Amino acid sequence: MKIGVYVCECGSNIASTVDVDKIVEEAKDLPNVAVSRVYKYMCSDPGQELIKNDIDEYNLDKIVVAACSPRMHEATFRSVLEDKGLNPYVLEIVNIREHVSWVNSDKDKGTEKSMALLTGAVYRSALMKPLERKKVGVIHTALVIGGGIAGIQAALDIASMGYKTTLVEKTSSIGGKMSQLDKTFPTLDCSQCILSPKMVEVNRHPNIKLLSLSEVVAVDGYVGNFKVKIKRNPRYVIEDKCTLCGDCLPVCPVIAHDEYNQGFSPRKAIYISYPQAIPASFIIDPDDCLGINPLICTKCKEVCGPEAIDFDMQPEIIEKEFGAIVVATGYAPYPIENIGEYGYGTIHDVISGLDYERIVSASGPTEGKILRPSDGKIPETVVFIHCAGSRDPSKHLPYCSKICCMYSTKHALQYKHVVHNGTAINFYIDIRTAGKDYEEFYQRAAEEDKVIYIRGKVSEVLEDGDQILIKGVDTLSGETVELHADMVVLATGITPSEGTKEMASLMNLAVDINGFIREAHPKLKPVDTAIAGIFIAGTATGPKDIPDTVSQASGAASKACGILSQDELEIEATVAIVDDSLCLEVVACVLKRAHIALLRCK
Ligand SMILES: Cc1cc2nc3c(=O)[nH]c(=O)nc-3n(C[C@H](O)[C@H](O)[C@H](O)COP(=O)(O)OP(=O)(O)OC[C@H]3O[C@@H](n4cnc5c(N)ncnc54)[C@H](O)[C@@H]3O)c2cc1C
Repeated sequence: MKIGVYVCECGSNIASTVDVDKIVEEAKDLPNVAVSRVYKYMCSDPGQELIKNDIDEYNLDKIVVAACSPRMHEATFRSVLEDKGLNPYVLEIVNIREHVSWVNSDKDKGTEKSMALLTGAVYRSALMKPLERKKVGVIHTALVIGGGIAGIQAALDIASMGYKTTLVEKTSSIGGKMSQLDKTFPTLDCSQCILSPKMVEVNRHPNIKLLSLSEVVAVDGYVGNFKVKIKRNPRYVIEDKCTLCGDCLPVCPVIAHDEYNQGFSPRKAIYISYPQAIPASFIIDPDDCLGINPLICTKCKEVCGPEAIDFDMQPEIIEKEFGAIVVATGYAPYPIENIGEYGYGTIHDVISGLDYERIVSASGPTEGKILRPSDGKIPETVVFIHCAGSRDPSKHLPYCSKICCMYSTKHALQYKHVVHNGTAINFYIDIRTAGKDYEEFYQRAAEEDKVIYIRGKVSEVLEDGDQILIKGVDTLSGETVELHADMVVLATGITPSEGTKEMASLMNLAVDINGFIREAHPKLKPVDTAIAGIFIAGTATGPKDIPDTVSQASGAASKACGILSQDELEIEATVAIVDDSLCLEVVACVLKRAHIALLRCK
């Protein structure tokens, strides 16, 4: 047996903390090593040629490369072996960059650890056997989870490429948070006007099956062949029969909080969340209804001309197979009640950014008039507090919510456009306007619309008569600031949507330290996950504005189509096996839902 060992300097990435010459020399003494070399960039064309020439010259039959993570270049080096007629699986990669040089500054220790890893790899390499790649068929349908703008865009893109797509949305309508927004920065175009044509298209598209009130409850299988169970909750109204006539509304005796309007207006137990909702059908909220099981009130059913109400509807489990999955489960605002120092929940006129979106909207509870929730008066001064719960590692979220500088500026502008003589004050830590035309939007607000920006952190928000006292520090002048406002709008942080962790664990997806779904690579594979065939889009992966969300959704869709367009897929030949002599049969692997390993076990 002849093994070739190749150590990469990776520029100075590896060479600065590992004595590469030393390990190359020592490797020459390891059993079966026929040649051992170092090169500046082993992944480069000349680096690959070096290995190819050695395979010919030394008649090598196994290769060990000590370089970066196999996630970066395993495929590169496998193809080097293939080009020279070797089986691509007789390659062993030793990760001396991420596992050694990047996490260590002591050259002696780095060299010692690299040598230990390299020695292990050479011994392992001697045991490696050629493997054969397997081919599996592909189911040419896609699943998109989450019907916000990310899921809508992904579903439309996949469906338009000709593939049947199931869009699963857990609420009664698609649209997500974008449906609650009034106008969108930086163009101030109406959110519903650009969203609802896409929602209608989803409904009409022959290749899209929309399942509202539904959630994925189990995922099995692997790329090209996922088996998914979807739980569909009852709407108690037959979608196809409901004509939206509204005859049921006056007879329903229940008054409940309207979630779409952030609780600022009432709704009935039977309702449609907003006029453009898709599916365009009423729904009965079983928690609000006087009683479905046992049936207590049937007034809506009695007046329903098209006989659309069905109290016998039951939850159902739908089982389907898909070739690829896009996860677009979105975000939730940071729980505002956690930010007690800003008075939400105790001071009536302290509201959240989403509350403000509904108040300022023509379709909202005040029909677009900006009025204080406490007394319905027009506020003369409104303070917008950025980073409410963000960039605050000691108490709240450590990271930037990315969109709140922009939407607070939008909110201030909207206020000035309605209340011309009013005063709009933005309290900010830093203004972050990285996006096309975003800086110009902010400059316009500050200069033309006279929105006041105070660089500082608010420490306290207190009730003071019928006004609100805001205390803080102007960090540019160093002086303390105390000012009165009639209304305060909190730009709350962004967190993963409820259930993201559970959803991720159903599919074996990793989440990052903040709970967002982790990408396969943050820069090079931003829409892939570690599980082949499952892609991610939108704010499920982290805070994002609409343009970034939509482009990511299209990216995920095109990746999914890359799989769906194939009749067969080559799957990894390296698979987990069970060593019966060691297995304790505690089924921990099953409990951890190691589907892919299990499917291929034995
Ligand atoms: C106050 C405010 C103002 C904003 N203004 C602007 C603006 O002017 N311009 C701009 O570009 N951006 C703005 N944004 C950001 C914008 O809201 C987001 O970029 C966009 O909504 C992200 O879309 P999404 O599809 O990723 O997530 P979402 O809108 O959160 O949609 C996710 C969808 O997935 C569903 N879902 C969640 N979990 C599941 C599950 N397990 N199964 C099935 N379905 C599930 C949810 O019900 C929801 O429908 C603003 C945000 C806020 C808070």
